[in-house]
Amino acid sequence: MAVARSSVFFVGRNQNASWPILRRRRSSTDMLSDFAFWAREKERGLLRLLTRVVRAALRAWDIFILTLAIYLVLVLLTAVYFQQVVLAGLLTNLLAVPLVGLIVPLGLVALLLGMLVPPAGALAAWLVTLLVECLLALVDFFAGRGLSYGIPSPPPWLMLLYLAALVLFAVAVDRRKRQRWALVVLVALALLVVTHPFPPQLTPDELELTVLDVGQGDALFLAFPNGETWLVDAGRGAIEQRDGYRIGEAVGETVVRPFLRARGLKRLDRIWLSHAHHDHMAGLVAVLGEFPTRSLNVGPNPASRAYEDLLEDARARGIPVVIHRAGEQFAVGEVKVEVLWPTMDYTPGKSPSNNDSQVLRLCRQTNCLLLPGDIEERVEKTLAASGTPLEARVLKVPHHGGHGAASEEFLAAIKPEVAIVSVGATNPFGHPFPEVEDRLRAVAPRMFRTDRDGAVTVRLGNDGLQVTNFAASRRAQPYPSLAAKLAACARNLLLLESR
Ligand SMILES: [Zn+2]
Ligand SMILES: [Zn+2]
Repeated sequence: MAVARSSVFFVGRNQNASWPILRRRRSSTDMLSDFAFWAREKERGLLRLLTRVVRAALRAWDIFILTLAIYLVLVLLTAVYFQQVVLAGLLTNLLAVPLVGLIVPLGLVALLLGMLVPPAGALAAWLVTLLVECLLALVDFFAGRGLSYGIPSPPPWLMLLYLAALVLFAVAVDRRKRQRWALVVLVALALLVVTHPFPPQLTPDELELTVLDVGQGDALFLAFPNGETWLVDAGRGAIEQRDGYRIGEAVGETVVRPFLRARGLKRLDRIWLSHAHHDHMAGLVAVLGEFPTRSLNVGPNPASRAYEDLLEDARARGIPVVIHRAGEQFAVGEVKVEVLWPTMDYTPGKSPSNNDSQVLRLCRQTNCLLLPGDIEERVEKTLAASGTPLEARVLKVPHHGGHGAASEEFLAAIKPEVAIVSVGATNPFGHPFPEVEDRLRAVAPRMFRTDRDGAVTVRLGNDGLQVTNFAASRRAQPYPSLAAKLAACARNLLLLESR
C-alpha cells in the first residue's frame, strides 16, 4: 500500500512537469527539490513496508512462543497419559492458532448479523465455513504425515524435574529474569521426554514370561537373562467393516503396545507368530509399526490374505521373515530354545488351523517354559508319544483351554507346576472348558486364568520360580503409596547413575 501511494505521487508530479506551456520553465533547483521530495517519500514508504513486515514477523514469533509454551506443557502430559509424542501439534498450532483467531470473532459476527440482516449473516457464515474447512484440511494434512510416535512414559524423577522446570520458567517469564536459561533447561528436559534415552525395565539375570491379559487370544512377552526381549503373538485386532468403521478391540494398540512402552522398550529382538489365527496375529500389525525388530519368526502357515499382508508389512519395513520347523535349537545367552512343532513333513491346510502352531520350549538349566500356541489334542498326543522331552515347570495352556486341550498324556509328559490359561472373560466359546480346568488342577499345583487374574508374570531367577499376577498385586495395594513412588523414583535415579 505504501509503495502504491508513493508511485501515484510520483506519476502526478511528472504529469505536471510535462506541461511546459502552462507552467513557467522549471529551474534545475526545482527539479532537484522534487527529486529529494520523491526520494524522501519513497524512503518513508519502504520504511512503512519494512515496519509492517517486522510487525507480522513479531506476531508470528508471538504465536510460535505461545504454541511452544502450550506444547511444552502438553508434551509431558501426552507422554505420561498417552505414551505419545505428537510433533504435529507444534506445527499445526502455528497455523491453526491464527485461523481460530479469525474463526471465533467472525462466527460471532455471523451469528449477530444472521439475526439482524439474514443475507449478510449468511455471507459471513459462508466465510466462517470456508475458514473451518481450511482448518480441518490443515489438521488432516499434518495428522497424515506420521509426525506422532509412541514413547515410554518418563521416569518419575524426570516428571518431577520437568514440573519444577515449568514452574521456574513461568516465574522467569513473569519477572523477566533469566528467561533464556529457564527455556534452555525446559527444552533440554523436553528432549529427554520425547527421546527417552533410558534403559528398559528388565531384571538382569532372570528369564521372564508375562502372559498378557488380551481377552480371547494370546500375547506373550519374554525377557531373557542377557537382556534380549521377545514377543510371541499380539492378540486380536479390530475388525474393519465395509463402511470404514472398526468393531472389537484392537489389543495390539490398547494392551500390547502400552505394556511394551510401560516397560521402557523401544524395540524387540524377535517377534514370533505361533499361527495365523486372528486372535494371535492381528495385533502384530500395530506392534511391527512401532517396535523395530531383528526378525519375524513364523511356522509353515497357509497363505491367507491377512497372513500375506503381515509378511508384506514386515518385508516393507526391512524385517526378515524366518520360517522355523521342529528340530531347531539355538541359545539365547544361557537359555536354550527348542522348536518342537510343526515337523518337517507337516503341511498346513488351505486355511489357518490351530495345529499349525509353533511349539516352543525354553530352558534355563532345568527350569523350562512350554509355549504350545493353540495346538489341539491330536498334536499334543503326537508330541507326548514322540519321546521329545516336554518337561516344563510352566505351561501356557494350549488353545485357551478349549475342548480336548491339555490332554492327560500331554500333561503327564510336561508335569507343570504352573499352568496359565490365556482367555477372554465371558468368551462365546466357553473357554476354558471345566474338564480342562479339572485336568490342570489335578496336575499343576498353581493355575492362573488371565480373565480372572489379569496378566500373569513368571520369573525364573537364581532364587527359583516366582509367579505374580496383576489382579492379586492390585488387590494387595490398590494405589501405590507415596513411599512406593519415592522408592521407584530413587531406584530409577540409581539405575541411571549405575549406567
Ligand atoms: Zn487362539
Ligand atoms: Zn488358533
